[in-house]
Amino acid sequence: MSAGPHPTEDRLIDLAGQLLSPPVEDDTLRHLESCGPCEERFRSICRDAELAVDLPRPRTRDHLTSPEFTRLKRRSLDLLLPSGN
Ligand SMILES: [Zn+2]
Repeated sequence: MSAGPHPTEDRLIDLAGQLLSPPVEDDTLRHLESCGPCEERFRSICRDAELAVDLPRPRTRDHLTSPEFTRLKRRSLDLLLPSGN
């Protein structure tokens, strides 16, 4: 599993808006799963875009890496993806 280069802000915005082609979207989501800083940027963009991502606001780094938060994060990413696989 290679994380690849960090996606640009524009790419994250396109991801939030589901504007990326499926292969690029998939790559970007995989990156977010393994890169905390980029995931946080994406979460921030989603909040700004007022997308239906009902994640709790983490207050500590521990919260960011807790199993519960990871589960919620995955659910939020699922919401942004077309179903199926
Ligand atoms: Zn990254």
